[in-house]
Amino acid sequence: MEMTQTIVVKIGTSSLTQPETGFLALATIARLVEVLSQLRRQGHHVILVSSGAIGVGCSRLGLAERPRTIAMKQAVAAVGQGRLMRIYDDFFTSVNQPIAQVLLTRSDLVQRSRYVNAYRTFRQLLKLGVIPIVNENDTLAIEELKFGDNDTLSALVASLVEADWLFLLTDVDRLYSADPRSNPEAEPIVQVADLEELETLNVEVGDRGTHWGTGGMVTKIAAARIGIKAGVRTVITEGRSPENIFKILAGEPIGTRFEPEPQPFNARKRWIAHGLVPAGKLYLDNGAVNAILKSGKSLLAAGITEVEGEFQSQDAVQICAADGREIARGIVNYNSSELQQIRGYHSEDIPHILGYMGAETVVHRDNLVLSQ
Ligand code: GLU
Repeated sequence: MEMTQTIVVKIGTSSLTQPETGFLALATIARLVEVLSQLRRQGHHVILVSSGAIGVGCSRLGLAERPRTIAMKQAVAAVGQGRLMRIYDDFFTSVNQPIAQVLLTRSDLVQRSRYVNAYRTFRQLLKLGVIPIVNENDTLAIEELKFGDNDTLSALVASLVEADWLFLLTDVDRLYSADPRSNPEAEPIVQVADLEELETLNVEVGDRGTHWGTGGMVTKIAAARIGIKAGVRTVITEGRSPENIFKILAGEPIGTRFEPEPQPFNARKRWIAHGLVPAGKLYLDNGAVNAILKSGKSLLAAGITEVEGEFQSQDAVQICAADGREIARGIVNYNSSELQQIRGYHSEDIPHILGYMGAETVVHRDNLVLSQ
C-alpha cells in the first residue's frame, strides 16, 4: 500500500484479558501496540477503540463479577479507564508512539456542530501523528443515550473520520455459517460483497457475547452494516493475532471482509443515518414508500398515515412502511403536533389547517437517507 490510509482497530475485553483469570493479556496488548505503531511509522493514520474500562476496574477492585447496577458500572469504569490508559501509555511510550484518550458519549454525535467538532479533534490528532485511543465515556453516559457496545462505537468513529478500514478484533477467527464449536458443517465466510449479501447472512456464532464484554456477533454485523454504508472496508478477525492486520492490508483472505458501498453516503448523510438519534416515527402509505424508495422523492404530508412520538421540528425520525419496517431516516420540518394535524393532507391545504405557511416537504430529500 502506497498511500496513507485511515485505519480504525477495535479490540474487545475478551481479547484484552485472560479468560481464566481476568488478568490483562499483556502479550496480546504488546503485539497490538507493535502493530499499530508500525502502521503509524508506515505513514498510516491509526485509531484504536479499546474496551476494558469495566473489566480492568473490576480486577483493580477485586470484584468477581461484572457489575449490574448503573451506578456501580459507572464507578468501576472510572477506576478502570485510567488504569487501561496507563497500560497503553507504558507500552506505546516504549516504542516512542504518542497516544491520546478520547472518551465519547452518544450525545456528542447528535448535534451537527458537536459531530463536526469531534471530527476536527480526530483529524488534528491524526495530523500530529498521535494514536487516539477511544472508549465510550462509561462513567458519564446516560443509559438511554449510549452506544452500548464498542463495535457500534468503532463503526461510528470510522464513519466520522472517513476511515478506509475498520478491524473488529475478536475471539473467533472469522464468521461461520454455523457455530464451528458445535457444528462440523460450519462454513467459513471469507467475504461479504455488499449489503444485500449481508442481509442474507446466516451467522450463528456466539450471539451471546462473552462474560466480560458486551458485544457478540450481532453487534459486529451491525457495525459492519454501518461501515459498508459509510464506505469503510470492515474486517472481523482474531484479536490474538494482531499481526494479521498487515497481511489483510496486503490482500490476504484472513478473517471475514465486508466490502464497502462504492458510493457511500456523504458526510452530512452519514451524520443523519448514524449520528442522530430518532425521536419519533412516521408511518407511510405504499405510494409514499415507493416515491421515496424508487423515485428519490421528498416526503410530503399526504403520504403520512400515522405519527408516533413527540418531537420538534429539525429532530430526526424513522420513516416506516405500513408494516413497521424502517425504510429511511430523516430530519423533519414540522413538530409532532403539527404533523398530527396535517398528515394525509396535500401541501396546499397546510396553510389552512395550521394557519401559517410551513415548509413544502415534511422531510426534504437532502435530509433523508434510505435505511437499506
Ligand atoms: N466501554 C466498555 C468498557 O470499556 C465496553 C463496551 C463493550 O464491551 O463493547 O468496559
